[in-house]
Amino acid sequence: MDFSLSNEQKLIREQIIAFAEKELNSKAAERDKDQLFPRELWLKAGEQKLTGLTVPSLFGGGNMDPFSAIIALEALGYSCTDGGLNFAICAHFLAGVSPLLHFGNNAQKEKYLSSVSTGKSIMVNCMTENTSGSDAFHLKTSAKRYKDGFIIDGSKTFASNGPVADTILIYTLTDENKGFLGGITAFILDMKTEGISIGNSLEKMGLRSCNMCELFFDNVFVSESDILGQIGGGTTVFNYSMEWERTGMAACQIGSMQRLLEQSIKYAQTRIISNESIGKKQAVSHRIANMKMQLEAGRLLTYKAANGLNTGRENTLNASIAKLFVSEAYTAAAMEAVTIHGGNGYTSSYPIERALRDAIGSTIYSGTSDIQRNIISSWLGL
Ligand SMILES: Cc1cc2nc3c(=O)[nH]c(=O)nc-3n(C[C@H](O)[C@H](O)[C@H](O)COP(=O)(O)OP(=O)(O)OC[C@H]3O[C@@H](n4cnc5c(N)ncnc54)[C@H](O)[C@@H]3O)c2cc1C
Repeated sequence: MDFSLSNEQKLIREQIIAFAEKELNSKAAERDKDQLFPRELWLKAGEQKLTGLTVPSLFGGGNMDPFSAIIALEALGYSCTDGGLNFAICAHFLAGVSPLLHFGNNAQKEKYLSSVSTGKSIMVNCMTENTSGSDAFHLKTSAKRYKDGFIIDGSKTFASNGPVADTILIYTLTDENKGFLGGITAFILDMKTEGISIGNSLEKMGLRSCNMCELFFDNVFVSESDILGQIGGGTTVFNYSMEWERTGMAACQIGSMQRLLEQSIKYAQTRIISNESIGKKQAVSHRIANMKMQLEAGRLLTYKAANGLNTGRENTLNASIAKLFVSEAYTAAAMEAVTIHGGNGYTSSYPIERALRDAIGSTIYSGTSDIQRNIISSWLGL
């Protein structure tokens, strides 16, 4: 497989790096400390099409093919040091906008696509519940037939972007007997729909400028026209969104790994101990060699998954492999970077400890490492 970038993809990369370094990084540490979501920066990212990378220009999006979108997210992860903002953009685009673009009917696209792709509206993806988690489809939140529509009752948790969202993609149980084989239905709705309420914010160790909360659904009336995809087709919508989320988040993470590698090399070259740079000490240089090796391997796995996006079910395996490998390599790389930076790496004067806190979540969201191993082994017939 040839993954060399076209001139257009190189330009996308350069433009995003120039934009993020100039516009997105100031006060990232303060936002992390105070858990502040930067809506004004979000809107600037929207102007750069980051919130709607693959959406056709007609709807104000970036009109990119899937592989170019993945290159754009890698560039964002590399150049934007606000991991929470990167995560908020990824969650919105990968698990919200992408399934809307793929499964939405004309009326839904007319209603939502322009505002979400330009960042004027923010999307939240609601799958996880207190009693489901890794067993994602074991939902209690139900949508029961009522008159010419449905009534949704239940609650969702760990909703990234939930406190600031305008548009919800929610997965509900519509047929208990069928469960994930035809009993799950996805709906897209306005956050202002009567009966939806926002619970307390959930404070996190990392990705803190991306706000998260519980959401409650009490007697929420939705119509047939709010179904995303088919009735009973929620599993297909969710699996599609996870293929995008696992691949796109991995891309953003390899961008961040590249930044951590460069920061570690620079520090190792300039930190002098016993009259020589620490980079001359094999314990340090071998750590950096490992970071480089893991980055290159992770990038190839991510590009392989990106190459198969929108090509069918076979690619779910590639996306899980990339997600598992990159999230674990990213967390290990952030830990190595802290070690290389010594005491400085542990202080918040350097951005390294924040990178480690941001990285740890990657082995949990979009399905934990254990769940990725379950998916991979089931593809191997186990
Ligand atoms: C930063 C962040 C952002 C998130 N954003 C969203 C969001 O926007 N929308 C959303 O819907 N969800 C979101 N989530 C939720 C996320 O998808 C879940 O946290 C994740 O799927 C794990 O579920 P859980 O937390 O309930 O853990 P549990 O399912 O309780 O798992 C606990 C532990 O048991 C292990 N385990 C459980 N079952 C198995 C099994 N069958 N085999 C092996 N090991 C198992 C897990 O691997 C884990 O180590 C987010 C989570 C995080 C951390």
